[in-house]
Amino acid sequence: MMFTNKQFTNKIRADFPILNQEIYCKPLIYLDNGATTQKPKQVIDAVSKFYSETNSNIHRGVHFLSEKSTLHYENARETVRQFVNANSTKEIIFTKGTTDAINLIANTFGEKYIKEGDEILISEMEHHSNIVPWQMVCERKNATLKIIPFNDKGELIFEEFEKLLSKKTKIVAVTHISNSLGTINPIKKIIEKAHKLNVPVLIDAAQSIQHFKTDVQELDCDFLVFSGHKIYAETGIGILYGKEKLLEALPPYQGGGDMIKTVDFEKTTYADLPLKYEAGTSNYVGAISLGVAIDYLQDIGFDDIIKYEKELLDYATKKLSSIKGLRLIGTAKNKASVISFILENIHNYDAGTLLDKMGIAVRTGTHCCQPVMKHFGIAGTIRASFAFYNTFEEIDKLHDAIIRIQKLF
Ligand code: PLP
Repeated sequence: MMFTNKQFTNKIRADFPILNQEIYCKPLIYLDNGATTQKPKQVIDAVSKFYSETNSNIHRGVHFLSEKSTLHYENARETVRQFVNANSTKEIIFTKGTTDAINLIANTFGEKYIKEGDEILISEMEHHSNIVPWQMVCERKNATLKIIPFNDKGELIFEEFEKLLSKKTKIVAVTHISNSLGTINPIKKIIEKAHKLNVPVLIDAAQSIQHFKTDVQELDCDFLVFSGHKIYAETGIGILYGKEKLLEALPPYQGGGDMIKTVDFEKTTYADLPLKYEAGTSNYVGAISLGVAIDYLQDIGFDDIIKYEKELLDYATKKLSSIKGLRLIGTAKNKASVISFILENIHNYDAGTLLDKMGIAVRTGTHCCQPVMKHFGIAGTIRASFAFYNTFEEIDKLHDAIIRIQKLF
């Protein structure tokens, strides 16, 4: 039934109070979902209710509220476990977000397994979050960062990946979906290939977790990371999934409360997974909001979301491609609902500023992917990224606004 039914789309949009407002006297058209998604009232209300009725620090007290808080937090972990189909909640670590989770693995894995002469393999289309932490490890350990290139459509060149993979490779870290190009990478194939050489793979799912069903066991990825704020939950919360055996073998990351079993000045022993990696008071309210956001999405139904977002992408691609002087950046065969483009003789910031004045929020610039911009020899792009609450009418308005901007120049 769903998104094709206007009533249903209106009902969905009513769940997101922020969408119902005007910017510069124009109805807000929010097309910056790749940067962060808006929050349904189910999430907002749950957070407010939690603070009004339950708030207390977790894993610390024997009193009623503390136990209740802990229960909510651990239930959220179980919700995430089921959502990504992990084997055990020991494999689900709450982090601050994708960046924090990648840093956790880069530091601990780097500490234990990377030595001089080793190689770490990432791709040319990674977000800075999946470049810089690895670069820092390489600097510390005298290792080398190797880069899988992409072609001019924005598709990873698989044969180059095969050539780069060697006995020197200690880990592969790639994004499932490029935030700047929209490309969906063949991660299952990448994982299979890397595993033939016993090389573990980290998947950056920051841009895929909200658009596709993710099954870590089916993928057989070793680590998978994502941010709550991109999947309709609060900011400051994220997930590191890691295979239990691998996480067990890695050293602790940050030290502090909650990650210990015993502390003595002579020797400290560490908590078992998952708490081993959750030092200090974690963002337990964020974790709870993530559980609620996942429940909300599952109630709507991922199959319908995937289908509708694909329709939005196809419609927008067709519509924007028809504009003379507009060049799409990222034309991979397999794409998610992200469209990057540039306009002839118009700087992306100027276009973004004018779109804003028309009520349309898009992202402009390098999207934390400077190497991608370098590949195309451009300063940046204008990016429209769609969520299931966006509509075909909004795409029509984006199209018309671009034409108006071109006329102004
Ligand atoms: N990886 C990708 C592909 C992203 O799109 C982003 C954010 O845009 C990140 C990593 C970093 O996410 P966060 O800033 O939530 O840590």
